[in-house]
Amino acid sequence: MKKLKEINLNTFQLNVLLNEQEKEAFEMLLNEGVYCMQCNDVCKDGVVDYSIKLNSLNDVVVDGDCGTCGNKVGRVMEFGEDPTFFAKAVEFRKSIQN
Ligand SMILES: [Zn+2]
Repeated sequence: MKKLKEINLNTFQLNVLLNEQEKEAFEMLLNEGVYCMQCNDVCKDGVVDYSIKLNSLNDVVVDGDCGTCGNKVGRVMEFGEDPTFFAKAVEFRKSIQN
């Protein structure tokens, strides 16, 4: 199998990819599930100025700044482990190829 390319997602594209339950999981992880080395804790004030990517495993990767201290933080959200999401991501990749 060919390795998938890492692609940037905007918020609109992310919302197309995620179902309601996954959107909730995304928000939850963003607000309570990103660890900050500087704070030595999860980012209590969430993650700001973040970018979103779909990685080679069709996981969603968030990179941004800790809302509390501004340190660089990131997290891989393993949505690609869900076959339904994975299939949707493959279709999405085809749709943006042209
Ligand atoms: Zn922090």
